[in-house]
Amino acid sequence: MSQFGTEFCDHFAIAQFDGKAWQPAEIKALEPLSIHPAAHVLHYASTCFEGFKAYRWADGKARVYRLYDHIARMQKSAASLKLPVPDTELLANMVLDLVRRQVEDIPQPPSSLYLRPTLIGTLENIGAAASPSTVATLFVLASPVGDYFAGGARPLKLLVEDQRSRSTEQLGSTKTGGNYAAALGPTLAAKAEFGVDQVLFCPNGDVQETGAANFLLINDDEIITKPLDTTFLHGMTRDSILTLAKDLGYRINERSFTVAELLEWVKTYEAALSGTAACLTPVGTLVHKGQEIPVRDGKAGPSVEKLRTALQSIQYGEAPDTHGWLTEV
Ligand SMILES: *Cc1c(COP(=O)(O)O)cnc(C)c1O
Repeated sequence: MSQFGTEFCDHFAIAQFDGKAWQPAEIKALEPLSIHPAAHVLHYASTCFEGFKAYRWADGKARVYRLYDHIARMQKSAASLKLPVPDTELLANMVLDLVRRQVEDIPQPPSSLYLRPTLIGTLENIGAAASPSTVATLFVLASPVGDYFAGGARPLKLLVEDQRSRSTEQLGSTKTGGNYAAALGPTLAAKAEFGVDQVLFCPNGDVQETGAANFLLINDDEIITKPLDTTFLHGMTRDSILTLAKDLGYRINERSFTVAELLEWVKTYEAALSGTAACLTPVGTLVHKGQEIPVRDGKAGPSVEKLRTALQSIQYGEAPDTHGWLTEV
């Protein structure tokens, strides 16, 4: 299958907020959007998005993973950007109608259909830097994606960045375009200088997350990860893994920790990144102050593997959905 995010289904869902109300959504042939060059989003980055997957089970029917939790997170993102907040039913039906329409395009697990709701401020006013976009467009793209782990789960190498931030305190938990623009420069520099895959942002030594994934430390009976606050994105994969780990008898230790603690703990703890695209991915090496520090022996560990399998088994329909995370289409 082609590279993640580059292949699209031939239809998408779209709806407009006209300043007063959301207008009925349409499923249309995928086509370019026509927006005014003065549109708020193009100048003042009034945009947020979501990312989640639908899986097509052996029975031929699709299931969407944590649809209503992702919608709730998008509503929080929209509110924090002062954009019109999409109605739950409107957005849920846009997603479900689109998935129903494209169900034949969903490859069998471990492949899936990646869904990308996006909200943009379309107010035509370049003088509105300090006022919100009162009109908006909401659309949902669907993209068939292959198995992230085809070829095996290669442990990642991360640069531990102990000065700079990925985002700002007020937008860290908002899934908004500007945050990825902010992380891009430091990430490209780290790739070029140290050959790392990602940057682990730890401003003033506080271990937060990478550009697009949450960070967890895991041993045989405990998970350590940062407690929810406004500085980082509240991943649904993070929440799912913590919930399943608790079911499996792990202690969940949500606490802030420092780079010094991190470097000590990776002698015995596995480390992993969590996110929809790559589920739970092992981290094998940290780079700090120019030095390479292996996470344990630098290889993928058993707990990360076990927890990833536990989550994927539910998503693929191989284990019961004990937490009611899947919506049948
Ligand atoms: C989307 C995202 C995540 C992961 O969230 P999931 O809901 O698990 O996919 C983590 N960090 C950032 C910055 C993100 O944008």
